[in-house]
Amino acid sequence: MSWTERQRAMLAEMGLRVWDAPATESLAVAVAPEAAEARPTRDPVEPPVTVALPPPGAVAPPPTAIASSAVAAMDWPALREAVAACTACSLHQSRRQTVFGVGHPQAHWMIVGEAPGEEEDRRGEPFVGRSGQLLDNMLRAIGLSRQTPESPDPSKQVFIANTLKCRPPGNRNPLPEELARCEGFLIRQIELVQPKIILAMGRFAVQSLLRSSAPIGQLRGRVHHYQGVPLVVTYHPAYLLRNLTEKARAWDDLCLAQGTVEASAARPAGGA
Ligand code: SF4
Repeated sequence: MSWTERQRAMLAEMGLRVWDAPATESLAVAVAPEAAEARPTRDPVEPPVTVALPPPGAVAPPPTAIASSAVAAMDWPALREAVAACTACSLHQSRRQTVFGVGHPQAHWMIVGEAPGEEEDRRGEPFVGRSGQLLDNMLRAIGLSRQTPESPDPSKQVFIANTLKCRPPGNRNPLPEELARCEGFLIRQIELVQPKIILAMGRFAVQSLLRSSAPIGQLRGRVHHYQGVPLVVTYHPAYLLRNLTEKARAWDDLCLAQGTVEASAARPAGGA
């Protein structure tokens, strides 16, 4: 395909070089060399999913400290306080601090990642370090920002949250019980934000939101729904840093999400 100057600029923001070729879209993207991320991550490859979450309708382990009915009624300040004080799973023992989430409280875009890493645990913000820089570049490529300047346009803003609010020690994979005990917070965050689109990044976010054990490669490329909100599956930025050729697919996913939001905005209110 031929790339417009705007598309070239967007791809450059993601660290991608492009050339025009009659090949498929994904093959028309060349990836700039990039060193591997320093910090260990949970997903150097996209292995078959091993964490078994309860199927839809199944009963999750009962929370010890999170009363789901109470969480469901919380506003932003109460929710933030509840997360900061949470001891519902053993991760509270090893965390430096909780990582609540960041962004515009009514952002049209919601990014859901998996769990805080070491840097996130230290800074209290999701998606920092090299993964965060890549995510910011990806967002900037389609005109989005995690910043909340004065008088922000929520259609250009994102809210970023993780499935787990506390760091698993040694960056190990989240356990099913931890995901189950923490998910009430994410559910409430999504209810409060009321996003127009959810971008689920990485297999644990996908497992939590879609209750699917299918690999990301099988779930990406189409629009799913979570509680009526369109949801697009894509790779975690940490994974993209190690699997450079997948950046082209991540770009496709971003374009799919953007197209979904634009189509929804263009639809008359009340239209299907
Ligand atoms: S990970 Fe979630 S459920 Fe576990 S202690 Fe932290 S906030 Fe609570």
